[in-house]
Amino acid sequence: MQCNGSFVLLLTFKNAKGLTTMLSIILPTYNEEGNIENAYHRIKEVLAPNHIDFELVFVNDGSKDRSFDKIRELADTVTDAKILGLSFSRNFGKEAAIFAGLSHATGDVCAVMDCDMQHPPETLIEMYALWQQGFEIIEGVKHSRGKENLLYKGFAKLFYKLISRSTGIEMYRSSDFKMLDRKVVDEYVKLPERNIFFRALSSWLGYKSAIVEFDVQERTSGTTKWSVKSLVKYAIGSICSFTTAPMQLITFSGIIFFLFALVLGIQSIAKWISGNALEGFTTVILLLLITGSLIMISLGIIGYYLARIYEEIKGRPRCIVDEVVKNG
Ligand code: UDP
Ligand code: MG
Repeated sequence: MQCNGSFVLLLTFKNAKGLTTMLSIILPTYNEEGNIENAYHRIKEVLAPNHIDFELVFVNDGSKDRSFDKIRELADTVTDAKILGLSFSRNFGKEAAIFAGLSHATGDVCAVMDCDMQHPPETLIEMYALWQQGFEIIEGVKHSRGKENLLYKGFAKLFYKLISRSTGIEMYRSSDFKMLDRKVVDEYVKLPERNIFFRALSSWLGYKSAIVEFDVQERTSGTTKWSVKSLVKYAIGSICSFTTAPMQLITFSGIIFFLFALVLGIQSIAKWISGNALEGFTTVILLLLITGSLIMISLGIIGYYLARIYEEIKGRPRCIVDEVVKNG
């Protein structure tokens, strides 16, 4: 962990005028060669006039294009900000990139934002002001979701409804665009689980939090990195890492179907007594089908959690940082 005595001291006086603090900005990067330089310029344009010292932590998540070369070039040329580039040995996913970025960031306050500038850098100023006022988690909330295709929008709505219902946290408008105090970052990187869900976990951590609304911008270059398959995988993974509600759902539906079976059972016995036992063949088939499918679904859900437990027990690192570049 990066926290040492001097950080603690800086943190204590973070509101004192004249004392320099540093903002680390974590940018998960996957095939974003066209966005890296632009990200630096956009962020600088916004932060420099406000006299905010910053560090950019690019985490190259196994890009197949020249993203890491671009990051290296930036580290070689930039002198007015700290640039840190981490490169994974393969694509480990955005969550792992956020985690690695947060664990290597050295700032007194850290922000996580997308490299394609869909999260407007101007919002950083608002977030920073709130941090100075003493808020420890500042969450970027989508005022509008920007341009998304209908399938994606529908899918996102369903996914966040499921999460919101099972956890009680409103998620539809939430995003990974957040600013966290050093204290929060230190606690976050201490969490031992491998399957992590940044968007929901930062609210699980507690602390004094505030919300800032922003409008999702258009991508500056390239296309979205999510395919339907990866989105479904991400959705199931996130739900299961954050809640055991699907498992409780099985118990609940089990009870309902037991009651259902009880009624049908009584009805069949009554029919048998009255001598009409041959009837009800359809009911038997229906019951077989329903219980059969329920058992299969339940086994699938239990299997999924078992697989997760197995993954956690293996205790593998979340990612492998293959290369590090930095300026200065
Ligand atoms: N990203 C990543 N690893 C991945 C997929 C995406 O680090 O496996 C990064 C990507 O480079 C971008 C951010 O996560 O900075 C958001 O991705 P994207 O813009 O594709 O998602 P969208 O905005 O379409 O939801
Ligand atoms: Mg994007």
